Amino acid sequence: MRTVEEHLAACLAAVSPLAPVDLPLLDALDCVLAEDVVATGSLPAFDGSAMDGYAVRHGDVASASVDTPVSLPVVADLPAGVREVAPLAAGAAARIMTGAPVPPGATAVVPVEDTDGGVATVLVRRAVREGLHVRRAGEDVRPGTTLVSAGTRLSARQIALLAAVGRERARVLPAPRVAVLSTGSELVDPGRPAGFGQVVDANSTALTAAARDVGAHATRVGIVDDDPQRLLAVLEGQLSGADVLITSGGVSAGAYDVVKEVLSRLGTVEFHRVAMQPGMPQGLGLLTRGPHSVPIFTLPGNPVSAYVSFEVFVRPALRRMLGEAELHRPTVVATATQGWSSPPGKRQFTRAVVSSDDDGRLRVRPASGPGSHLVFGLAGANALAVTGEDTTSVEPGDVVRCMLLERGRR
Ligand code: AMP
Ligand code: MG
Repeated sequence: MRTVEEHLAACLAAVSPLAPVDLPLLDALDCVLAEDVVATGSLPAFDGSAMDGYAVRHGDVASASVDTPVSLPVVADLPAGVREVAPLAAGAAARIMTGAPVPPGATAVVPVEDTDGGVATVLVRRAVREGLHVRRAGEDVRPGTTLVSAGTRLSARQIALLAAVGRERARVLPAPRVAVLSTGSELVDPGRPAGFGQVVDANSTALTAAARDVGAHATRVGIVDDDPQRLLAVLEGQLSGADVLITSGGVSAGAYDVVKEVLSRLGTVEFHRVAMQPGMPQGLGLLTRGPHSVPIFTLPGNPVSAYVSFEVFVRPALRRMLGEAELHRPTVVATATQGWSSPPGKRQFTRAVVSSDDDGRLRVRPASGPGSHLVFGLAGANALAVTGEDTTSVEPGDVVRCMLLERGRR
């Protein structure tokens, strides 16, 4: 039997980050940047007004007050977007709007609220210090500044900066394309009537959703029944369009466990028993046909086993492909309010609910019984409580480490 660490290491070794691509900024959202983006110009690009008002030489209005306003001729009208700006002569004012270039010679902007708003001449009712309400060229970004470093996952905030400096595209690690299929002759699609002995396929939808949640472009291929030739044909048909294949079912020791049967014959996919519960039977390898060679994860069929296997092995591997530095879920320690038993020799991942008490201390309770078919408890869980191979029981009051199953890529 393999340890969880051994199998996880094999899963991570089976994948590598995809080759970077140039994407339009909006398509690069949530992708990891594959280049240092360095500023070539300044931000702001020119001295501009931060207020609607009047550009002046501050010395000309030094004596201005409500009782002793200073009158200046208005020699220009400068809306945002004006392309030519003449120097401001001494003793004059230019009406100026937020975002317009401040004329050479002007040293401050008097807000319109501190004037009479005049068009031909303006009465200034308040003195201003040098530089007031002027946004200096380069005060935000200077040429040569590293704006966003390689390895950063692009959020709307970094995209704002890249757009502001005029970048249209960014070089990023693309999202892996993931094809997900379920195996089992008992399975029917959601929405179809399930007759006696049939089971609705939860896994392909669940694993596709989980892969999308990580940030992959995941496609639900659907159900393949337990027929070795058909399964191989469907898998091979996915090879040219996928960077990762995920299957569920058919990897235990049953007579019709065709995934194991057909893929172990190829010699490039290995099947292991991993010392964990749920999720003991795992398969991993490369599926190759012609020029295409794609990592394949074959997960056990019980829905909870499939999901936990995804969390423990596939999600970190997909995050590696996405270029994420942190591969794993955040964990917390919480105090058990209820006990449960844990199998000796196996690491147990218990569907759990973590909450905080009135004093902000974290507590944890199982979300359901341990059966790997119990999806109701899975839906109610927000964490997986992780207990070690040596643990045989968790008692109320014990401190347990929990993986937090938060939504999204973080
Ligand atoms: P297997 O790993 O194929 O032996 O399946 C183990 C158990 O999980 C069986 O009870 C299957 O019916 C069930 N199962 C397998 N695949 C799925 C699926 N896609 N959705 C729901 N249950 C499944
Ligand atoms: Mg099966």
